[in-house]
Amino acid sequence: MADNSSARAFGRAREPVIIIGGGVVGMSVAYHLRDEMEVTLLEKSTLGSGTTAASIAQFTQHQYDPDTEEAERRRRSWAFYKSLVDDGTFGFDRIGTLHVASSDKEFAAIKETPTGLEYAGITATMVTPAELSRYGIDPETVRGGFFLPDDGVLDPGEIVQYFATEARTSGVTVETRTAVTGVTVDQGRVTGVETTRGTYEAGTVVNAAGPWAPRIDEMVGISKPLRHTYGPILVLQSDANVNLPLTLFESGYYVREEGDRQLLAGKFATTYKEATMLDPDGSHAEAAGEQFRLEIAELLSTHMPSYAALDVTNSWVGLRTVTPDGRPLVGATDVKGYLHATGMSGYGITLAPVVGELLAERLTTGNVPRLLESLAPSRFDG
Ligand SMILES: Cc1cc2nc3c(=O)[nH]c(=O)nc-3n(C[C@H](O)[C@H](O)[C@H](O)COP(=O)(O)OP(=O)(O)OC[C@H]3O[C@@H](n4cnc5c(N)ncnc54)[C@H](O)[C@@H]3O)c2cc1C
Repeated sequence: MADNSSARAFGRAREPVIIIGGGVVGMSVAYHLRDEMEVTLLEKSTLGSGTTAASIAQFTQHQYDPDTEEAERRRRSWAFYKSLVDDGTFGFDRIGTLHVASSDKEFAAIKETPTGLEYAGITATMVTPAELSRYGIDPETVRGGFFLPDDGVLDPGEIVQYFATEARTSGVTVETRTAVTGVTVDQGRVTGVETTRGTYEAGTVVNAAGPWAPRIDEMVGISKPLRHTYGPILVLQSDANVNLPLTLFESGYYVREEGDRQLLAGKFATTYKEATMLDPDGSHAEAAGEQFRLEIAELLSTHMPSYAALDVTNSWVGLRTVTPDGRPLVGATDVKGYLHATGMSGYGITLAPVVGELLAERLTTGNVPRLLESLAPSRFDG
């Protein structure tokens, strides 16, 4: 039995915890709470079938602007992943991330980035146009870039299954095909949830519903600034071997190797300004349709002509859930016992371990960990 004394410090949080959503984030929260509290995770479909399944799962050491606190969060996530990569539990393909500038303006903006990243403890190096040509990038069309060699690709399905197995082994109840249809609140405190398979009492409810998170908020009667952007992906088939890091162009389009002879092409749209409210249950196939294919064809023929004639063999579209400042919403809300683990933008695979760890600490001790302060869901109130 776990020592529950710290958990008792948070009073009623010792009552059952319900986590809504069995994506990588909800599963991480369940995993990190597994020996501390009575936890039930409810997933309306199958585990990892939401945005997590749409992800290209690059572990990224940093986002665009160097930020020491964010770097610290990601270091904690990486420490978690690394031990499981090292012991062979998780696969990891260390392909790196390349940021490419094609305009003078962008090049001037990124020139100092490796120095800033170094300050945040992240290895990054500048790359000349001539060096970029080894990836099939036409050096005449770019000004240069910087490379993060330690980034790489994880397998989201593997991560979700690991969390689920470990959580279940420690007594966490994981119910799939169980949709939450209502959250009951009494005098400003959550008391449970209603589902397609009956009601559950709870002292704590964690919204980890990814792009469906605003719907759970509606059930509770609150509203947080969460919006969606499309994440379209094309799979391109190559006859020759592809050796390509995750390569982000300043236009927001990106390409990456996928296995030996495939290329993924996508668009990285993560700002709140370009986001809208979309229906996560709707069909978004059009976002990877003709127009997007033309945009990728244009990108490739401009910068990577040797890939321009490849056939598209598959495509899909996921929704990113974004916030006004690009940081997730993690922690308590005004409704007692109702917490968020949402708004992961394009970094939910990267952040899932640290978000689970910090939220579990928040729930078991009642204290807000330092690294959660800037993620407080209340930061946009008023
Ligand atoms: C194209 C694309 C590429 C990406 N690439 C990367 C990357 O390279 N690196 C990275 O770190 N991140 C990446 N991301 C982001 C990452 O995939 C997400 O941030 C992450 O998967 C979010 O996980 P989640 O658990 O919050 O949401 P989800 O995976 O969407 O999980 C939410 C779950 O909640 C369930 N649910 C919803 N409503 C209910 C309800 N009422 N009752 C019960 N269950 C419910 C859903 O069925 C779903 O399974 C990418 C995203 C996209 C779209």
